[in-house]
Amino acid sequence: MIPGRSNGVLFKEELVNPQCVRCNEMFHGQPKKYRAAMVAKYSNEQVEAWEQEAKQPIHDRDMDYEAIKIKYREKLHLLLIPFGYNTYQEMLQGHQY
Ligand SMILES: [Zn+2]
Repeated sequence: MIPGRSNGVLFKEELVNPQCVRCNEMFHGQPKKYRAAMVAKYSNEQVEAWEQEAKQPIHDRDMDYEAIKIKYREKLHLLLIPFGYNTYQEMLQGHQY
């Protein structure tokens, strides 16, 4: 839908969705199909708003990457707790191949 997402929408979680390798690589993300699914889920107005947002990139100096890092570290932490891990490193060390 928004190829190579610009940083204005890079961390919009609604725009991060799984896709099979075939659609993602061989069919370059099936943009028309993907957009239609996003419109069905979020409305045409919302999808158009994200597309407009993506056209207005935010300069790196205006991005609060530190806050984004803290936010996702906390989210990861909350996902790991039920499995008995506190950090991603701990999980990797505890994982048996
Ligand atoms: Zn597919």
